[in-house]
Amino acid sequence: MAELLMKDTRERIRCGKIVALARTYRKHAEEMHAELPPDPVLFLKPASAVIHDGGTVVLPTRSQDVHHEVELGIVIGDRCSHIPEEGALDHVLGYLLGLDLTARDVQAEAKKKGLPWSIAKGFDTFAPLSPIIPQDAVPDPHDLDLELRVNGQVRQSSNTRNMVHSVARIISFVSDIMTLERGDVILTGTPEGVGPVVDGDVLEASLGDLLTIKVDAKRS
Ligand code: MG
Repeated sequence: MAELLMKDTRERIRCGKIVALARTYRKHAEEMHAELPPDPVLFLKPASAVIHDGGTVVLPTRSQDVHHEVELGIVIGDRCSHIPEEGALDHVLGYLLGLDLTARDVQAEAKKKGLPWSIAKGFDTFAPLSPIIPQDAVPDPHDLDLELRVNGQVRQSSNTRNMVHSVARIISFVSDIMTLERGDVILTGTPEGVGPVVDGDVLEASLGDLLTIKVDAKRS
């Protein structure tokens, strides 16, 4: 069973479903030659893909082109559905820093054939998640620097203010489709700068001065 960890208290929380959003930063949509849709595009990542700080991303033999995507994660605090935007933040337990590893070649093939992204997004170890920082320690989730370095070189650097949807809108939208429960994670999509991860790489990400995560990568 996958678990999440509160940063300071070290309390353990069962990790529920991981709802991930795509195309929520304009410049990333552009680099993927994709339209920026009015509503968030959703997919699911399995909780079995979760690894933690200090873990290892295993690059699967089915892909020759795994990409990093650094993202702000929203952790839900209680069971809720059909939540209006007003008051939506009351259902947030806290935030985390997530990496949405993606087998880009597998995804490109799926897109071409109109198939789901479950394989491209769902491999074991494809969801490194940091500990959770409680909501009250985050003054504004829409003004957080988001950075990813590979082997010390900055690959992705943006701010959550560049996200086209607010946290409240995202929770409202997702909860209108599926009930959200304590320990569910919403990965809010990645800014521009995605790129390949290869055997031996060290990935370090940071969310302002609130959270960091470091993982390495190896070929299976
Ligand atoms: Mg993503």
